[in-house]
Amino acid sequence: MKTATPLHIPFNRPCLTGKELTYIRQAADNMHLSGDGPFSQRCHTWLEAQIGCRKAVLTHSCTAALEMAALLLEIAPGDEIIMPSYTFVSAANAFVLRGGIPVFVDIRPDTLCIDETLVEAAITRRTKAIVAIHYAGVSCEMDTLLTIAKRYKLFVIEDAAQAILSSYKGHALGSLSSLGALSFHETKNVMAGEGGALLVNDAQWGSRAEIIRDKGTNRKQFFRGEVDKYSWVDVGSSYLPSELTAAFLWAQLEEAEMITQQRLVIWHHYHDAFAPLEAQGYMRRPIIPSECSHNGHLYYLLLPDLATRATALARLNDAGVNAVFHYVPLHSAPAGKRYGRAYGNLVHTQWASDCLLRLPLWVGMTSSEITYVVETVHAIVSRL
Ligand SMILES: *Cc1c(COP(=O)(O)O)cnc(C)c1O
Repeated sequence: MKTATPLHIPFNRPCLTGKELTYIRQAADNMHLSGDGPFSQRCHTWLEAQIGCRKAVLTHSCTAALEMAALLLEIAPGDEIIMPSYTFVSAANAFVLRGGIPVFVDIRPDTLCIDETLVEAAITRRTKAIVAIHYAGVSCEMDTLLTIAKRYKLFVIEDAAQAILSSYKGHALGSLSSLGALSFHETKNVMAGEGGALLVNDAQWGSRAEIIRDKGTNRKQFFRGEVDKYSWVDVGSSYLPSELTAAFLWAQLEEAEMITQQRLVIWHHYHDAFAPLEAQGYMRRPIIPSECSHNGHLYYLLLPDLATRATALARLNDAGVNAVFHYVPLHSAPAGKRYGRAYGNLVHTQWASDCLLRLPLWVGMTSSEITYVVETVHAIVSRL
């Protein structure tokens, strides 16, 4: 008798929409393979229309977009940038590269985004900016952050790496502050392997962003016929992706709504299915404030403590459900201690780092795979 192959459900599986290779071939046929060809232009126009930002430019990663933000803000040694500790390293590194000092504050226990009520007390004479990371595609409390920023003349940058097509009070994330950064890394909802975009909402930075992105030259203005030669006019680097990346990405952006809808279906399926486990006190589910509409980027459970989570992770993975934890707090990481400092005791950061467990969620999961995850989580979590 043949035994059934045990199911293995990976944490993530990249979703191809079907047109990626067609568009890459078209890009090759266009004979324009470096950056800012017709596919890049389509992506820029789409992002500007969908997100409502003044200007969108593709970058080779979200990390690159954040580095561009630090250059545009003219971060100088000693400048302080307030951000959560519970996030990916790129927000911190982008500023540390310019000599900036990340000041890590705690997160809110409901959304796991920066706790806006702690920001004001963390401001000093050196504070230049606040980085709002929209964790799991759920918005930070933007009105409060923007009000504080205005009062103290600070910039707000949105790290919207996980937040394409999410919104806050009806406004797309990435459009609410001076600058926004998106990621098209393989693990994000809309992806191009590696890729990103800088969203510029402040009129003062539109043309400087183009220049910084293109090696500090005014080549884009030259191609538009605005100047009669192009030269080195500013600091800069090479942050633009090739047309091959843009062609791949265009196939994804065309289906971005569909991808988001399908992720939300799975997200809501999990959310409904796990309500009883939460009611019985085994774990906590994500909390979405009413002013936030999200994009189903990730589904997580919060277990009672580190040991319980370790057991749950081991048992779920043994059963073929590739659950994973998430961030190690930046303030307690070796480089975080060297380059940044913590404000306050960051209890919720430590709690999320210890207790959070992410479940597989990707476009193309079959209903039997979703059911298997749900049943396996029920069986394991109710017996921890
Ligand atoms: C993925 C991610 C990044 C980095 O994106 P890259 O495109 O890989 O550089 C930055 N910030 C957050 C919050 C992310 O989730």
